[in-house]
Amino acid sequence: MRLSRYFLPTLKEAPSDAQIVSHQLMLRAGMIKQEAAGIYAWLPLGLRVLNRIEQIVREEQERAGAVELLMPTLQLADLWRESGRYDAYGPEMLRITDRHERELLYGPTNEEMITDIFRGFVKSYKALPLNLFHIQWKFRDERRPRFGVMRGREFLMKDAYSFDIDEASARRAYNRMFVAYLNTFARMGLKAVPMRADTGPIGGDLSHEFIVLADTGESQVFCDKQLVEMPAPGADVDWNDLQAIVDGRTSLYAATEEMHDAAQFESQTADGDRLTARGIEVGHIFYFGTKYSAPMKAKVAGPDGQDTEVHMGSYGVGVSRLLGAIIEASHDDAGIIWPDAVAPFDVVVINLRANDPGVCEACEAAVEALEAAGKSVLYDDTDERPGGKFATADLIGIPWQLTIGPKGVAEGVVELKRRASGEKSTLPLDQAMERIG
Ligand code: ATP
Ligand code: MG
Ligand code: MG
Ligand code: MG
Repeated sequence: MRLSRYFLPTLKEAPSDAQIVSHQLMLRAGMIKQEAAGIYAWLPLGLRVLNRIEQIVREEQERAGAVELLMPTLQLADLWRESGRYDAYGPEMLRITDRHERELLYGPTNEEMITDIFRGFVKSYKALPLNLFHIQWKFRDERRPRFGVMRGREFLMKDAYSFDIDEASARRAYNRMFVAYLNTFARMGLKAVPMRADTGPIGGDLSHEFIVLADTGESQVFCDKQLVEMPAPGADVDWNDLQAIVDGRTSLYAATEEMHDAAQFESQTADGDRLTARGIEVGHIFYFGTKYSAPMKAKVAGPDGQDTEVHMGSYGVGVSRLLGAIIEASHDDAGIIWPDAVAPFDVVVINLRANDPGVCEACEAAVEALEAAGKSVLYDDTDERPGGKFATADLIGIPWQLTIGPKGVAEGVVELKRRASGEKSTLPLDQAMERIG
């Protein structure tokens, strides 16, 4: 991608209403534009990162056995009357009336709709266990939309819903999502800690929030320090029996403010391991049994021919919020430092003299070689001054910067910089490509 043909509206200064660093950097890096309070347009650079995060979430859901579908953003109010949540949900729900005076709403979550889909088709226990997920825009009319995509009103969520014949099976489904979440966040370079959580308006009795520690987080959390550095289980686990992995995490103390028990924290956790911090909720999983299947009559015939209400769980990831969380965790004074797995481009090729045919030729050859090796490349072919180009490259956080100027062309070398460490080396292109990997 040539920067001269791209759309990257960077800003010198962050607008004064952007209070936290991730919001400031997303605006400065030309990733988003606010259209209304808590409602954003995703500009090309922001969209590329959003798509990559979405894809990691999707792959880890599928690995854990969940199946993707796509439900609409608009839902009928009558469906929510069946569960009793239409009146209970309150002002966070955006309610809409169509030209036929039918009451609709812009979905804040999808328990009712997925239960309706399930009961329409699934009649036998033989179809279970089943886990269906989608990645779709949600709307919640937040009282205080703020911090950019961190607390939007319109935001992208992955939500999965599991259906099982009994509680024991539903807990296995819960464990699969628990482990999938650990792997998902680790792949994005995040340390997310599962913490005992309140179930709120979703309901149920078993629930964990996945929390990324950050001073700007909106939740107060309490946990054993050992949980923060614990490596993710990885893909190579027995997906049918994850209880030991889950127990290994949940036996250490970790709780959000609503669930915190100071006495238990002190007795369970050694002095030096007690961590009280702020955190960002990037995921939330629930087991809620028959809370929706009972009122909505989602039943299957069991092995004995008797109809039984299915046991359900739901599992959310804040896909758009994750951009903010990753930037909060990975930036410096010069800008964003994208982890490789979510970076909008793998490499930026910086042309130091865009009016010099020899330099242009060398740059184009480098871009071509990198792309042939499967790398995504942003090519800064603009006639801006070198200082401005370096500042932009640092700001937008692309993991590798490959700079080519007249001197390097004469000597047959390029300059390679790793954004995260700032380490620079001067070397021939093929060696630079080896370094990039
Ligand atoms: P919060 O406590 O931050 O309001 P929540 O508990 O209301 O979030 P859930 O219903 O658990 O949210 O939704 C699943 C996930 O969706 C959350 O863990 C979070 O990552 C994300 N999310 C929720 N609300 C927002 C929002 N307003 N903007 C961006 N992401 C959000
Ligand atoms: Mg909320
Ligand atoms: Mg919450
Ligand atoms: Mg939650």
